[in-house]
Amino acid sequence: MPTTTTTDLHTGGCLCGAVRFSVSGEPTGGNHCHCGMCRKDSGSGVSTFVTFPTVNLKWDAKPAEFESSPNRFRGFCPKCGSSVTWRHGDYPDFLDFRLGSFDDPTPFKAKKHLWMSTALPSFAGIDPGIEHVDQSS
Ligand SMILES: [Zn+2]
Ligand SMILES: [Zn+2]
Repeated sequence: MPTTTTTDLHTGGCLCGAVRFSVSGEPTGGNHCHCGMCRKDSGSGVSTFVTFPTVNLKWDAKPAEFESSPNRFRGFCPKCGSSVTWRHGDYPDFLDFRLGSFDDPTPFKAKKHLWMSTALPSFAGIDPGIEHVDQSS
């Protein structure tokens, strides 16, 4: 299993390449979100995010944003529509990236299942070995 260090650089972007970013260091979180808004945003049963401090983030091209609930913003590519990020306006020092937006998502590990209160068990791939939270952390 590869390990990450603070010098690791992770690159990623949307499906068409119009949105691109790089971020370095260790993620501060990794979660599978089972909320209904992430289902609508992604079209999938579960959405997986990796959290990084924004101090380590560089955008080559930024996503557009949609305020999906007050002060919560979902970043997406205005050209191809890929969902790329989620952020809470009260915590500008952190940004959640969708796991699948990374060119190499293999170094990251999920730590929590969020919004288990609205999970779809038959589609969610729920891991009994990590923390389960009824709503958000
Ligand atoms: Zn795109
Ligand atoms: Zn969610």
